[in-house]
Amino acid sequence: MRPITYVRATDTATAVTAVSSDPTSDFLAGGTTEVDLLRQNVMNPRRLVDINDLPLTGIVGTPEGGVRIGALARMSDVAAAPVVRERFPLIAQALELGASPQLRNMASMGGNLLQRVRCSYFRDAESPCNKREPGTGCSAVEGFSRGHAVLGTSEHCIATHPSDVAVALVALDARVHTLGPKGERSYAIDDFFLLPGDAPHREHPMEHGELITEIEVPATPIARHSLYLKVRDRASYEFALVSVAAALSVMDGVIADVRMALGGVATKPWRARRAEDFLIGAATQRNDFAMAARVEMADARPTAMNAFKVELAQRAVVRALDMLCDGNETGAAPGSGSGSPT
Ligand SMILES: Cc1cc2nc3c(=O)[nH]c(=O)nc-3n(C[C@H](O)[C@H](O)[C@H](O)COP(=O)(O)OP(=O)(O)OC[C@H]3O[C@@H](n4cnc5c(N)ncnc54)[C@H](O)[C@@H]3O)c2cc1C
Ligand code: SF4
Repeated sequence: MRPITYVRATDTATAVTAVSSDPTSDFLAGGTTEVDLLRQNVMNPRRLVDINDLPLTGIVGTPEGGVRIGALARMSDVAAAPVVRERFPLIAQALELGASPQLRNMASMGGNLLQRVRCSYFRDAESPCNKREPGTGCSAVEGFSRGHAVLGTSEHCIATHPSDVAVALVALDARVHTLGPKGERSYAIDDFFLLPGDAPHREHPMEHGELITEIEVPATPIARHSLYLKVRDRASYEFALVSVAAALSVMDGVIADVRMALGGVATKPWRARRAEDFLIGAATQRNDFAMAARVEMADARPTAMNAFKVELAQRAVVRALDMLCDGNETGAAPGSGSGSPT
């Protein structure tokens, strides 16, 4: 048995000092990732610094039309917040389609961004895994890889980023604010998630002891017309095989603006910039949607087991855009975002 010390931080500066001064310590928020991995011997902190008393739970609309979300706001509270539902339906839907009600009541937004991959080799604490133990190899490349990534992979890691809400936040150009031993920092969310490259154990640019304090979503008027479509093996309590966060504005039958990001297919929440570029100025036609999806997936590098994701992602993109054009963005509401895109 490994002894673990537990302390409860009462202010942010103390929490940062406590973790940054001790390489064997971790923050503890809702514990839904941290405690699982601790029990499985995947993470081995000797000290847990509980941050649940810190005043980081706010969900506040900005006068400009954005929202500032405290790192300790619970997934369920963020999904239920009127300002989020009204201004950013894709965020509310992404949260409600994740995990289970019990987990959403515990899980924090900061912890959600930092949750670890669901690759079974990472989680069994025994198999070679470059993410868990750098330099040992990647068991998934030649192993079981049905749920793994087809975009942003490297020979060293092909694990999919598991967060749903991160996909919506990437589509919206959110910013992640932190407090670390060197002071406050702010990251564009697309830079916050790192590709595995040859260092898959580095998943974000923060240093040890840096605390996420807030997620800032800028005003994005087209997000009022948005959705999160999640395709998964069963209708609830399951991670995405493919997901699409999308927002659209149409003028005179032509796409004036679009935001899109993909989940379940890449090693980080994947901003679909190629598809966006293709769609701006295009007609709202299925053929154009399908071409945009094809362009986005052109660099996919699937394994034999997950090649189906390339086609599935393209169909999901088309379906998401169809739903937005039909004014059917509530179609991705809880429980209905599953099933096979046609
Ligand atoms: C069965 C199951 C199903 C799930 N399904 C889904 C799903 O469908 N979609 C989805 O998106 N997620 C899913 N999740 C993941 C879940 O959303 C995350 O476990 C949760 O959001 C993590 O938040 P937490 O507050 O519990 O974090 P913790 O477990 O407390 O922490 C997670 C990590 O983040 C660090 N940390 C936490 N807060 C901060 C902070 N403010 N600053 C710096 N570091 C911090 C911790 O040290 C730890 O390393 C599922 C989880 C489980 C167990
Ligand atoms: S895919 Fe990544 S997490 Fe999974 S075994 Fe390979 S290195 Fe580890």
